[in-house]
Amino acid sequence: KDEVNIISGALELRKKTVSDVMTKLEDAFMLPITSVLDFETMSEIIKSGYSRIPVYEGSRGNIVTVLFIKDLAFVDPDDNTPLKTLCQYYQNPCNFVFEDVTLDIMFKQFKEGHKGHMAFVHRINNEGEGDPFYETIGLVTLEDVIEEMIQAEIVDE
Ligand code: ADP
Repeated sequence: KDEVNIISGALELRKKTVSDVMTKLEDAFMLPITSVLDFETMSEIIKSGYSRIPVYEGSRGNIVTVLFIKDLAFVDPDDNTPLKTLCQYYQNPCNFVFEDVTLDIMFKQFKEGHKGHMAFVHRINNEGEGDPFYETIGLVTLEDVIEEMIQAEIVDE
């Protein structure tokens, strides 16, 4: 029955966390903020097929903003626009979420929508000698959560 599927799907979301379904940082297609939007870079972005590209400064763990593919609409590759210029213009915010947040909570946040449909997964790293620090370990999108919901429904049937 539909009701049973919806309920078991919802229960499944409460058992899993964003770190179970995220795309790991090392697998993410990202760009350094020092990139130049020349023909080569823009081709690579289009070829990646993603609609949102995290932009980092220094190391990949230091994500500072997100580039939306639609932001490229008025960019001419012949102008060699620095990515930084575009990022400063759009200032798309990044949404962070802790690795142990469950998918039902994440789904609710995505549904509310004011923070977009992508979040970066972070954790507090207190291994080692120094002070604890935030470490970014991956990204999660609404699609990752919905996929989980659908899988649960399929298995239950
Ligand atoms: P898109 O609209 O770019 O296709 P979705 O939100 O539909 O992105 O997500 C599809 C899958 O791709 C998800 O598993 C998500 O974690 C992953 N994903 C989204 N953006 C990126 C990216 N820049 N690099 C790597 N994986 C990504």
